[in-house]
Amino acid sequence: PLGQLNIVTDLQHEALARLASGGSSSPGVHETVLGAIYQHVASKPDSEAVRYDGRSYTYEEILTDARAIADTLVAHGVGQGARVLLLSHQSPVAVSAVLAASMVGAAYVPLDFEAPAARLSSIVQGAAAAALLVGTDAYGAQARELVGDSIPIIDLQAVTNAPHTGMGWTPQTLPTPDDTAYVIFTSGSTGAPKGVVVGQRALLHFSRELAVIFNMVSDDRVLAFARPSFDVSVLEVLVPLYVGAAICIATVEQRRDPEILADFIRDERVSVAELPPVLMPQLSGDFPDLRIVSVGGEPFPGSLVGEWARNGREFWNGYGATETTVGVTFMRCEGQWSTTPPIGRPLPGLHAYVLDTHDQLLPPTAIGELCIAGPSLADGYLEAPSLTANSFHFAPAVGERIYKTGDLARWRPDGNLDFYGRNDRQVQVNGFRVEPSDIEQVLSTMRCVEQIRVEFLEHHALGRCLIAFIVPVAGGAETDVAALRQEAANRLPEYAVPRRFVLLSQIPITPNGKVDRSALGRLLVRLD
Ligand code: ADP
Repeated sequence: PLGQLNIVTDLQHEALARLASGGSSSPGVHETVLGAIYQHVASKPDSEAVRYDGRSYTYEEILTDARAIADTLVAHGVGQGARVLLLSHQSPVAVSAVLAASMVGAAYVPLDFEAPAARLSSIVQGAAAAALLVGTDAYGAQARELVGDSIPIIDLQAVTNAPHTGMGWTPQTLPTPDDTAYVIFTSGSTGAPKGVVVGQRALLHFSRELAVIFNMVSDDRVLAFARPSFDVSVLEVLVPLYVGAAICIATVEQRRDPEILADFIRDERVSVAELPPVLMPQLSGDFPDLRIVSVGGEPFPGSLVGEWARNGREFWNGYGATETTVGVTFMRCEGQWSTTPPIGRPLPGLHAYVLDTHDQLLPPTAIGELCIAGPSLADGYLEAPSLTANSFHFAPAVGERIYKTGDLARWRPDGNLDFYGRNDRQVQVNGFRVEPSDIEQVLSTMRCVEQIRVEFLEHHALGRCLIAFIVPVAGGAETDVAALRQEAANRLPEYAVPRRFVLLSQIPITPNGKVDRSALGRLLVRLD
C-alpha cells in the first residue's frame, strides 16, 4: 500500500532523528514528586510553601494537613489504585488534598466547580471514585447533589481544622512510579468528557525537566492562577513544591480583576508566572521580580514577546496537551515577532515526530501531525480502550508508543517546531479546549433540532466565537432559541455555550460534500 511507502531518505532520517530528540533527561534522585517534597519538609520544615490571602503556610503545615487528609482517606478505605474527586478552588487545603491522594497511592480527579451539573455528573459517573473531597462547606450542597450518599464526602476544612492526633508531620507511604497521579477530564468528541490518566512517572518527568529549563529553585515564588481542574495547575503547584519553592495562590477576587492581579504579582514578588495570553495586555505596570513568564495552551500574538521579554526576563511558549502531561515542547522567545512564535523543541527525554496519516515519518519540510513519545505520555483514557487505542499506539516507523496530538506542525530549519492548528475541529476558546462536535451532540438531543453545525467563526461584534447553525425540524417556526441556549448552558461549560444561534433551512455543503464553512461565515456577515 502507498501509505506504507517510506518517502524519507537516509539523510533526512538522520536529520529527523536529531530534530525529534529533546536530548537526554536530567538525572533525578527521586522516584516520585512526593518523594522530593518529603525531603524538603524534612530538611527545611519552616520554609514557605504557600502564600494565600495574606497568610503564609510552611512546608510542614501543608504536609501536616495532607497527612490528616490522608489519614481520613485511609479511614474510609481509600488506598492504592483508588480515585478521589476534588471539588475546590485553588487553595492551601486543595494543595494538601492533592498531596494526600498521592500519599495513599490514589489519584486525584479535579472537578471544575463552575461546570454545569450535567457535565459534572457525567465526570463523576465516569470517575468511579471512592470519595469526594470538598474545599470548603460552600461546596457542600453541590457535592451532595453530585454523589448523594454513594461515596463519603470529606470536608477538607473540617478535617484540617480538627486537632490532629499526631503532633506535626510524619511521613506516610510514597506512591510507586506506576501509580496514577491524577485523572483530568477534557472535552471529548462523543459528547462525553474523557478522563486522561496521568501516572506518577509522567508527572515526575515533566516536573523535573520543566524545573531544569526554567531553572526553578527553592527561592522562586510561583503564581498559581489556574483552577485545579486544568493541568496548568500542575505546573503552578506540583513543580514548585518539587523544587522546594513557594506558591503564591491568587484568590478568586485577585483572579477576577487584572489590576488586583497585577498588584498581587508585584506585592508577592512572584518570580515565575504562567499567564493566559488574553489577560497579559491588561496587566499594567512593571514586575521587577518576575524573571520567567510562560504562555501556552493556544496561539498568541507575537507582539507579547517584545512587551514581556525585557530586562532579562525570559518569555517561554509551552506547547502540550493534557494527554502529554501539561507541556512537551518549549521555546524561549526573544526579539520581535509579528506572528505567533514557534512552539520549540521537546523537553529532554521526550521525542516529537511529524507524521502522515499512516504514521509514517514526513520529510523535515512537510506539515503533518505532531506526535509525541516518551515518559510524559498519559496512560490513556479512563475505561475507554478504543478511544485510547486511537490516540495512543505503537508506531513502527519510529519504534515507540506515540500520542497523536491532532495538531499540525512542521520543523523549522533552526530545529524548532511551528504550529499549524488542528487537523480536526477542536478549537481553543479563550484558552479552553472545545470540541464543536461536543456541543452539536448535546444540542442535537433537543426535539426541535433536525441538523446542527457549530463553528468557531469571526463575528464582527463579538470577535472569534462559537456560533450554532441550526436546521429546525419541519414546521420549526416555533424553534425556541432561548430554550436551546438554556439547554446548552445547563449541559456545557460556560465557554462552550454558543454566543449566537442561527436558524437555517439547510446547512450549506461544498461540491465534494463537506460543510461549507466559508458559506457559513458569509451568512453570518449578512445576518448581523
Ligand atoms: P493544556 O491544558 O495542557 O493546555 P489541553 O489538553 O487543554 O492542554 O489542550 C491541548 C491543545 O491546546 C493542543 O492539542 C493544542 O491544540 C493547543 N495548544 C497547547 N499549547 C499550545 C501552544 N503553545 N500554541 C498553540 N496551541 C497550543
